[in-house]
Amino acid sequence: MAVTRQFINDVNSIVKKIIPENSGLYRFMFFAFMRLSAGNRLKRRSLLRFDVHLADHCNLNCKGCDNFSPIAPKRFLEQEAFENDCKRLAELTGGELEDICLLGGEPLLHTGITEIIKTARKYFPKTEIGILTNGILLPKMEADFWKCCREHDIKITITKYPVKIDISLIKELAKKASVRLEVLYEEGERSFYYKPLNKKGKSRSKDSFKNCWYANRCIHLRDGKLSCAVVSYIDILNNVINISEGGEGGIRNC
Ligand code: SF4
Repeated sequence: MAVTRQFINDVNSIVKKIIPENSGLYRFMFFAFMRLSAGNRLKRRSLLRFDVHLADHCNLNCKGCDNFSPIAPKRFLEQEAFENDCKRLAELTGGELEDICLLGGEPLLHTGITEIIKTARKYFPKTEIGILTNGILLPKMEADFWKCCREHDIKITITKYPVKIDISLIKELAKKASVRLEVLYEEGERSFYYKPLNKKGKSRSKDSFKNCWYANRCIHLRDGKLSCAVVSYIDILNNVINISEGGEGGIRNC
């Protein structure tokens, strides 16, 4: 059986019910797991993948959001810039990526989402393309959105948060439109993890990479550059509280 991230998250939810998350034992076990799984997580990718914010901001306000969306000013992905980035990436990769995830913030806030989908599919015809959403706006999406998802083979994934949304209705809408739908944490519990940041930027990057659960996976496309989420959006945090103390060596987006 393939050990998926969802499986690991489910096991983690059970462990947390037995061992408190803020205990030394839990932290010890967590880092031991990260060390043991590092080899597997850090294997060189055969295909590139990327996430892209359709909107930096969100219609939820989660305390542990590592994309800093609750404090982000309104900012939408520009269609022209995205097209240019896709074009260049397609030239560099031969149009083959593992997957593209359209997310945010909340991606469904972008009124031009169907154009973004068409552009992604145009340059990456064989790539798995998905939308990752909190699902709140799905019941309000127009018929042309569902049609576009079906015609461009887009998979919608909902991360279920503790807010009231009618999952049965959404499943019905997706089924009717013949759009693939997955619901994460439908029964379980969505967890956020502390992500310690070294304000001076003096940590050993190799160790930080090894200890990051998202290493080698969380690759974000922003303004023509690819980097991890925290680095991509650190300007949002810095605009509210300037945590980067190290000048050139401090946390910054690059
Ligand atoms: S729903 Fe997702 S993007 Fe929005 S605030 Fe929560 S964690 Fe951040």
